[in-house]
Amino acid sequence: MQSNKSRGSIRGRMVAVYLIVTTVALLAIAYVTSGLVESFLVNQRTETQSEETVRLAFELAPEMGTENTENVYQLISERAQTMNGRILVLDTDAVVLVDSASYQNGFHLPYREVRDVLIGAKQSSYGFHRITRDDAETGAEASYWAVYYTAPIVHDGLYVGAVLFSSMLQDVEDSVRDIMMQISMTFLLVMIVMAVLSFGMSGIVAKPIVELTNAIRRMSKKGGVRVEIKGTDETAELGRAINRMSEQIEAHDRVRDEFVSNASHELKTPLATMKVLSETILYEEHPDPAMMKEFFQDVNHEVDRLSRVITDLLRLVKIDETESGELAAVPVRLDAVTERVVKRLMPLADKKGIKLHASTREVTVMGEDLRLEQVAINLIENAIKYTDEGSVSVYVAVENKEALLRVKDTGIGIPEEAQAHLFERFYRVDKARSRGTGGTGLGLSIVEKIVAVHGGYMEVESEAGKGSTFTAHFPLGSTQMGGGEEA
Ligand code: ADP
Repeated sequence: MQSNKSRGSIRGRMVAVYLIVTTVALLAIAYVTSGLVESFLVNQRTETQSEETVRLAFELAPEMGTENTENVYQLISERAQTMNGRILVLDTDAVVLVDSASYQNGFHLPYREVRDVLIGAKQSSYGFHRITRDDAETGAEASYWAVYYTAPIVHDGLYVGAVLFSSMLQDVEDSVRDIMMQISMTFLLVMIVMAVLSFGMSGIVAKPIVELTNAIRRMSKKGGVRVEIKGTDETAELGRAINRMSEQIEAHDRVRDEFVSNASHELKTPLATMKVLSETILYEEHPDPAMMKEFFQDVNHEVDRLSRVITDLLRLVKIDETESGELAAVPVRLDAVTERVVKRLMPLADKKGIKLHASTREVTVMGEDLRLEQVAINLIENAIKYTDEGSVSVYVAVENKEALLRVKDTGIGIPEEAQAHLFERFYRVDKARSRGTGGTGLGLSIVEKIVAVHGGYMEVESEAGKGSTFTAHFPLGSTQMGGGEEA
């Protein structure tokens, strides 16, 4: 219901836009065309009639100068017929001598085009006049455009008068009106076709939008929705983006489900062990104190483990909630943090007979001291945990305008196929070994998260049996931006 409404309004708007654009375009075309046609026709007309008037003046010249105007009248009334107009002959004072319609004799005609030729300024001239006349058919008064053409009459080198030829422009106006009429009819037809076409076209454009909207609506109810992609246009691109988003939502759901089931498994295992142990003691009539002590040691061990898992989970959740912008970042000396951690973990390395040494230079990064410390702890602890003999070397340095914390061990290494999964939550290469050393499988995911919110990234190099190198890359802190690498 609602989708149809939105579709309707999109279509309506599109049709309206099409029609407005077409109307404006057609009106502009009509305006320009009618102007051009009119001026072309009028120009053509005035040019030929001007020439005819000049020729007439030339013919009239020998007839002038005599008192008898009969010949002049004969000539002009005949020409008035063939030239389809009215002809007047004026004297040099612009007074009518002879009129082919013979009712304006003696009138003074003070028109510009008459003056133009009488003072000898021009060989011919014309002017437009709006005249009112009784319509021949209806008898009603109507006004028309007329053109008055003039030419001087020269006899023996003397100006003896002028000829005025008056011609109607109505036929030109009529043809322009006819043309306009035809154009209007054509345009009306075009508009109707445009309306139908644009209605159809807007349907084609609006359809995928409606389909996509429906798909998104379905998606918000349940996952796994995919829209069908047709073509390569913007709507197809939108469809692809929606599918990608749907995939991401599903992947996100999957990761979350997996995490929840892994987390509950990690929490339940120590609890189950503890229950078995405590029940054993509970149902024993007279438990042996030595055995009881051993059992309690085991329970204690499980409690420690549980607490480690919970601590790591809380850490992960907390860092998960932190966006990089929300970090309370201050300049932190990465070298000082690392030295501190190395010192603290020295007894652990000593206990395993592993050499632990650090080589650092002054490096400042922007970040949170305790979180950076967590990165160093997890990486160095892992290196010690997964190394049976040899050494763990820790470096803090600047390379390629990046701060880095590198932890290198000569331990068991990580098989190639496992390297891609190291940073996944609860992932362990060797579950038994990890558990045995108190691992939770969350250490590296916490490391990666912390490094990421600091704007950095992790890098692993390892060969099974030979050792591993974990490197955390960080952007340099502002105090060290552009600072030389020589310090
Ligand atoms: P855990 O708590 O199990 O150590 P981590 O997330 O820290 O979990 O590490 C995930 C897995 O990566 C470990 O279980 C281990 O198999 C492997 N790993 C991590 N660091 C090293 C290392 N320095 N050498 C070899 N394997 C390592």
